[in-house]
Amino acid sequence: MRQISLLTKRHYECMGAVYELSAGGWPARVKDVAKKLNVRPPTAVEFLGKLSQEGMVEKGPAGYRLTKKGSIELNRAIRTHRLMETLLAGAGVPLEEACRISFSLGSEIGTEAVEALCSHLSHPVTCPHGRPIPAGDEFDRP
Ligand SMILES: [Zn+2]
Ligand SMILES: [Zn+2]
Repeated sequence: MRQISLLTKRHYECMGAVYELSAGGWPARVKDVAKKLNVRPPTAVEFLGKLSQEGMVEKGPAGYRLTKKGSIELNRAIRTHRLMETLLAGAGVPLEEACRISFSLGSEIGTEAVEALCSHLSHPVTCPHGRPIPAGDEFDRP
């Protein structure tokens, strides 16, 4: 948790971009990652460097892919974000605000609290945007 909280929202977006770009089997190229994030390539290289350091992505000759650790962490972050959004939106917080708060607090919440939240919400399958909430471990869903 401690190490992971050093990653910013942009790093998570960068992991998301690598994930999407490499989904077809080819690794993600720096220029495509940069384009997806709407930044210049040197900035993308900086993000990717930090993510490699943390063991979240690995660089091959043709580009970057998520590591096992990176995909687990991305999954955890998306899950936490969407569950928090569901909670806040359910409490009447406007969706945009719920999304913003979930970004800033997401990394503070430990696995146990996320699982408790998921049970409390009766294991929702989508967030208020209608995007899928990834499953936790196998104990999570009834
Ligand atoms: Zn959101
Ligand atoms: Zn959402």
